[in-house]
Amino acid sequence: MAHAHSVLDFHSFSAQALAADEVQLIESSVAQFGAPLLLLDCDVIRQQYRALNNALPNVTLHFALKPLPHPAVVRTLLEEGASFDLATSGEVDLVAQEGVPAERTIHTHPIKRDADIRDALAYGCNVFVVDNLNELAKFKAYHNEVELLVRLSFRNAEAFADLSKKFGCSPEQALTIIETAQAWNIRIKGLSFHVGSQTMHPQKYVDAIRTCKEVMEQVVARGLPALSTLDIGGGFPVSYSQQVMPIDQFCVPINEALNELPETVQVLAEPGRFIVAQSVTSVASVMGQAERDGQMWYYLDDGIYGSFSGLMFDDAQYPLVTLKQEGEYAPSVLAGPTCDSIDVIAENIMLPKLDNGDLIIGRMMGAYTSATATDFNFFKRAQTVLLNEHDQSCERMIG
Ligand SMILES: *Cc1c(COP(=O)(O)O)cnc(C)c1O
Repeated sequence: MAHAHSVLDFHSFSAQALAADEVQLIESSVAQFGAPLLLLDCDVIRQQYRALNNALPNVTLHFALKPLPHPAVVRTLLEEGASFDLATSGEVDLVAQEGVPAERTIHTHPIKRDADIRDALAYGCNVFVVDNLNELAKFKAYHNEVELLVRLSFRNAEAFADLSKKFGCSPEQALTIIETAQAWNIRIKGLSFHVGSQTMHPQKYVDAIRTCKEVMEQVVARGLPALSTLDIGGGFPVSYSQQVMPIDQFCVPINEALNELPETVQVLAEPGRFIVAQSVTSVASVMGQAERDGQMWYYLDDGIYGSFSGLMFDDAQYPLVTLKQEGEYAPSVLAGPTCDSIDVIAENIMLPKLDNGDLIIGRMMGAYTSATATDFNFFKRAQTVLLNEHDQSCERMIG
């Protein structure tokens, strides 16, 4: 017990049987490619993007690559007309390779090396984020080419990741940055924030939007050029073991707060988790087993150092299912393959007696999972299998 990271408990184990066609898909994929696998369903990416787009009709959605930087995700969203949020030169390379027009991108890492700025500019991305004067000074050399967003900090203890501890400035500091930028001839496009990943309450956005509105009014009151843009960041929640508010309902108060802004203000968002979390199903197989202290230990070919790295770096409670449902259930542990003792995915869960080679399915495995996986102990990362890569909705309508 007592690991530093979160280990899934029995709440995460869903005895719900899988649909027959899904079982067949999983088994045929394992027969073809072996385990472990990540099944990435591009149709789910489309559905989530469309759902958020409908819920935030006047907001331009820039998908943040960080939770799942996979080329198929970029291609699928590009076809949907999405824009993109980049943070590193690696992410710049990925969207460039997939033919994303640079005008559809913004670079939002608040702390950059000069080379990071140059790489993004060479690609054609010219919107960047700053939250302090040291960073602002880096743009003196590029003042003719760039437009900046100033990132504000709004603390959020409840979120999976409180992204306002490490980044963001106060409204007062933002005004100082904007005045200094004016003196240095650097264009400030607007404000941004990130209320924290997996934010459960829309009020966090509402409060942040209101504060940004006040800063925008003070900018005008001080005789500085009016700001044209507000970027409300990511953080939109998904249902893991705990149900969250449907996205339409979640966005109602956010839209109301946005409606209070001057009509000239263009609004952006940077969703990551919401777009990709539900799109990936993980498939791991039992490599071996032992009975220890009255519990059955099953050693899987994927674990904390692999696709389940989110148990370490994120706070998600991935629902797990066994393909085998029949037999006597006993208290069990699911462990990862490495020789490290922290490599445990779930304990105190009731499982039927499993055989070596039996499959364990993980739901909601798209965000901050494979993205943070390692090759520790030379266990290869799970391969990704693409499903529904091409939009078949037209054909399906005909059929
Ligand atoms: C991680 C990140 C995002 C995505 O956040 P989600 O909570 O996954 O929606 C968006 N913007 C920035 C700047 C980030 O660092």
